[in-house]
Amino acid sequence: MTGNLIIITSPSGGGKGTLITEVMKRGVGIGYSISYTTRPTRLGEVDGKDYTFISVKEFEKKIAEGEFLEYAQVHDNYYGTSRSRVEALIGEGVDVILEIDVQGAADVLKMIPDAVSIFILPPSYHDLAQRLKSRKTEDPEQLDLRLRNSFDEVKRCVEFEYVVINDNIADAVRRLESIILGERQRRTRQTGAIKDILDSFDASRDAAS
Ligand code: 5GP
Repeated sequence: MTGNLIIITSPSGGGKGTLITEVMKRGVGIGYSISYTTRPTRLGEVDGKDYTFISVKEFEKKIAEGEFLEYAQVHDNYYGTSRSRVEALIGEGVDVILEIDVQGAADVLKMIPDAVSIFILPPSYHDLAQRLKSRKTEDPEQLDLRLRNSFDEVKRCVEFEYVVINDNIADAVRRLESIILGERQRRTRQTGAIKDILDSFDASRDAAS
């Protein structure tokens, strides 16, 4: 059995990181794809946990080697999803979350239309701006760039199958979790398990006749 690829996107500050952390704490049994980035490490971030932090030169070498499932230049830095990390987890039957920017998410969805695609939508522009400002992780220039990018990014929510409005963390976490659990119940995602069950019925009928 293979795991589902779950693409989760939002404009920067949309709250996807918080929601994903909370869903993972609830023990739904999902893997997280740790991305590579050339962005400087923020205070409190851990290399190999939040991201794998590498230089532009190293990143470009990985591009040439085909190591990225997708990569994008987001707000002036490179970010990329490791093809080998994602394939290994999915191959083990684990659902994998990709927490990536809108452009990267749309690229992956074109490549893998079977992926579960979820857009986290902030309840308003005002709310997004407040959240990004209070996070205090960006300098004013970066903050301004991220907010300007959000104008076009939110419009692209129509390209995603699910939209979770992040008006309240507890509710949004439940909605996100229900999507992940619901997707696992799709018949088309359980063909192996269903076949084994139906075969057992066939075998019992043969034995009974
Ligand atoms: P931040 O600098 O705030 O950690 O991330 C900036 C944006 O880059 C966020 O929207 C984040 O989800 C996105 N991002 C993180 N990793 C990847 C990745 O591997 N690929 C792409 N395309 N975007 C990513």
